[in-house]
Amino acid sequence: MRQYRELAELYQELEKTSKRLEKTFLVARFLRSCTLEDLEPVILLLQGRAFPEWDPREIGVASKLVIRTISKISGEKISIIESRWARLGDLGLVAEEYSQRKRQATLFSKKLGVRDVLTNLQKIASLEGEGTIDKKLAYLSDLLLNASPLEARYIVRTVLGELRVGIAGGILRDAITWAFSPLPEEIFYKCKHCGAVVPASDKCMSCGNPLIPSKSSRELAINELLNSGSIKEQETFITNNPREIYNKLIEYIEDAYNILNDYGELAIRLYKQGLRGLSKLELVPGRPIRVMLAQKADNATEALETVGTPAAVEYKYDGFRMQIHKKDNKIVIYTRRLEDVTKQFPDVVEGVKKINADSFIIDSECVGVDSSTGKFLPFQNISQRIKRKYNISEMVRKIPVELHVFDIVYYNGETILKKPFKERRAILEKIIPEQGILRLAVQRIVKNEEEANEFYEESLRKGNEGIMFKALNAPYKPGSRVGYMMKLKPTAESLDLVIVGAEWGEGKRSRWLSSYYVACLDPVTGNYLSIGKVSTGLKEKREEGLSYDELTEILKPLIIEEKGKMVILRPEIVVEVTYQEIQKSPSYDSGYALRFPRIIKIREDRSPREITTINEIEKYYKEQLSK
Ligand code: ATP
Repeated sequence: MRQYRELAELYQELEKTSKRLEKTFLVARFLRSCTLEDLEPVILLLQGRAFPEWDPREIGVASKLVIRTISKISGEKISIIESRWARLGDLGLVAEEYSQRKRQATLFSKKLGVRDVLTNLQKIASLEGEGTIDKKLAYLSDLLLNASPLEARYIVRTVLGELRVGIAGGILRDAITWAFSPLPEEIFYKCKHCGAVVPASDKCMSCGNPLIPSKSSRELAINELLNSGSIKEQETFITNNPREIYNKLIEYIEDAYNILNDYGELAIRLYKQGLRGLSKLELVPGRPIRVMLAQKADNATEALETVGTPAAVEYKYDGFRMQIHKKDNKIVIYTRRLEDVTKQFPDVVEGVKKINADSFIIDSECVGVDSSTGKFLPFQNISQRIKRKYNISEMVRKIPVELHVFDIVYYNGETILKKPFKERRAILEKIIPEQGILRLAVQRIVKNEEEANEFYEESLRKGNEGIMFKALNAPYKPGSRVGYMMKLKPTAESLDLVIVGAEWGEGKRSRWLSSYYVACLDPVTGNYLSIGKVSTGLKEKREEGLSYDELTEILKPLIIEEKGKMVILRPEIVVEVTYQEIQKSPSYDSGYALRFPRIIKIREDRSPREITTINEIEKYYKEQLSK
């Protein structure tokens, strides 16, 4: 069993480098030295999670509780701990400091294994109801009392959702691949000096000695890929190029991950059976998968070029995406963030019972409808339904909905991700009766731009957001923004950014956080890069829409640190921001700034992991230059 201390040392090493290859190497080396039993806790803890990605439970500990816990175990006054926090800007470091002192006082503590830490975190994440806070405090104290100073630093950062070691999904996926699958020669070598398998370069990443190529491992790589049934024989032999074999391997592992939605399980399968463990993966109703996303098109010509003709076009409904699962008469509704919202939508649960299938996983858009006019309601209304935890039946009456179903990936016991879209649609047409709240997304098959544009105008006239273009023969790729689905809508692209800081206002706004620092995502390190300060778009009064005071209320519990008028926030709230122009700017981490930014709304359906990336910002910046 691995000790948590070893993992803490790995975090420390990871923090020291920003290079993707080095991070991948460090994680892969660690994983390779794990036993089967270690893999689940190690992979979850590396992600700062207590449960796999498909499980929406979060650790959810607030800074206040951490401060109380530190105070309890050290006997220090809360106000003093708070002032240390203000100095150091990181509660992890504060916990480390107090843990040092505690060590001098008590010498008896048990060694923490990775499993012990995970078990306690899982208990914390599963608590509900009365007395939750005190119980959380007890579990956290138990961990901190037994932790070394370095361990305390990372335990605290983990419970706060602030691990900051910079390994995003891509790095973890690559590290798992490096650790547990055959790697083609000329990309990876086995170092003669230390025996580590390391990426090609002059020097061994592990021991620093010069790298000398070892006996070919390409044969092995090809054979294992073939035996797993993952890549067709022909394909492999056309590709004798090691880089291409490597890319195929990564693509294959990514596909498997997208079905499992669980890096721990992915690693365990590879560990036990090699690539063979990833063949014939099936979806499991009740366990959400990441949805397929669309690329954006500027016009119908571009969209058709990508998806090919003839193409399916559909109304783009402006509502809330719902992934709905049914098995053994149990129905579960997930949002795009994979949160379970079944309780909030009893009307949808009743509605989908009419679908003619024993089991399914469907993809759909839920839209609010004005009961007097029959017209679609703006997105904000349905978001009220998602937030509502009580008096649900009143909400069902006040904001009735329609469910527009546009895809199906699991049907009567069979995973149908790979079936061409037109066949999946044919199944929908067979099993979805248009009654009650149920609708099939309006679709037409078009051969050219004229037909697509005609449909586009019709869709906008009906009050939709735009249209979707879909490749008729494409599979469903979970979690990807591939060109199988293109969106076309009239408004300029807006950005989805996470709020990382804010400033208290002045004068009559002094009780509100009235300007907000927003950031985009660096998909390699998983860090957030600031891109500007926004103070417009919000309303003075709640009745008028998203107001300063409402946003302040939402952000207050996320405050990590206060410096004068400025606060630093835990990056959780995603907002849609429009702008007039992207400019280069040294003032923000991203190297860019937004001209005339404006907050449009909170994107409840987006997690901070799904926001606009720095690569997209760069792309929009370049597009702007060429216009
Ligand atoms: P946007 O911000 O443009 O709503 P997004 O970034 O939330 O898009 P995209 O995948 O880029 O997500 O755009 C597609 C979204 O449009 C889907 O997530 C889904 O919620 C919605 N949608 C509405 N109608 C359809 C449809 N017929 N087919 C697919 N998606 C649809």
